[in-house]
Amino acid sequence: MPLISTNENGIYCAQGDFYIDPWRPVNKALITHAHADHARWGNKKYLCHRYTEPVMRHRLGADIVVETVDYNQEIIINGVKISFHPAGHVIGSSQIRLEYKGEIWVITGDYKLYDDGMSTPYEPVKCHHFITESTFGLPIYQFESPLKVFKEIEEWWKENQAKDLNTIVMCYSLGKAQSILNSIDKEIGPIYVHPAVYNINQAFEKVGFHFEALPIFQETDKNQIKNSLIICPPATDGSAWQKKLGPARKSFCSGWMQVRGARRRRGVDKGFVFSDHCDFKSLNEAIKNCEAENIYVTHGYELQFTKWVNEELGLYGQVLHTLFNENEEE
Ligand SMILES: [Zn+2]
Ligand SMILES: [Zn+2]
Repeated sequence: MPLISTNENGIYCAQGDFYIDPWRPVNKALITHAHADHARWGNKKYLCHRYTEPVMRHRLGADIVVETVDYNQEIIINGVKISFHPAGHVIGSSQIRLEYKGEIWVITGDYKLYDDGMSTPYEPVKCHHFITESTFGLPIYQFESPLKVFKEIEEWWKENQAKDLNTIVMCYSLGKAQSILNSIDKEIGPIYVHPAVYNINQAFEKVGFHFEALPIFQETDKNQIKNSLIICPPATDGSAWQKKLGPARKSFCSGWMQVRGARRRRGVDKGFVFSDHCDFKSLNEAIKNCEAENIYVTHGYELQFTKWVNEELGLYGQVLHTLFNENEEE
């Protein structure tokens, strides 16, 4: 019997009787990171990296039962050796390594290889069985260095300021929002955030991070936010909150922005190609680095990427069906 299998609740380790990022409520859930498709409500007990805990409590309820670990700290459940390793995806995100009788599995959750200067950088972990996402598992996805993208955002912000316009950047409130906040030059002007982003920032402050940005509430004086950079979630597009910001140009930050049609469909003034997932080259690099022979592909282009793993990399690739095999909101 393999150490890891899937059932109607999720990715399961029978020997340890626990799940990893389960999609239905279970007794014990090991959580790679706090994005909604990985950290779900209703589990009896959670285990996650200590940076992930405050965001989990913020999203799932202050009273959830959470145990935390540090990176590389070993714990043993019914003989299964468990450790969390940096995935570089968002603050606290982890690859989970399981070892039992010499057999090693790594479940990556979501990950990226470049160092965003904020999340603990990804570390390759050697294993026999590697479960990888494939959000951008097609050769067309090749991302520029994010540093270059941050420079582009800064230049665009200055352009907009010259025209007396606010600059709206829409991106996910957990991950990309903090990455941008962490990297953008604050000398250019004031940076504001939607309350949803502010709440996530506050959660990370509890574990020692700091982000300089004030929230914009309904009652915020709109003269005060003139010529600013405003970071908000994509769900605010066209909302009353966004309309009250005054004259602005708006953009969307996503790996999907690489495809021109996606930019058009979004109806934004600008698209920044920026992702906290691996591009195609990075997926290949991670597979090479982990030295696994068995690759399980989930979250994204499973069929195409599995074919690539088998035919081009000469490894044993197979699709891992999860509840979230559709394209990731990113
Ligand atoms: Zn994620
Ligand atoms: Zn995900």
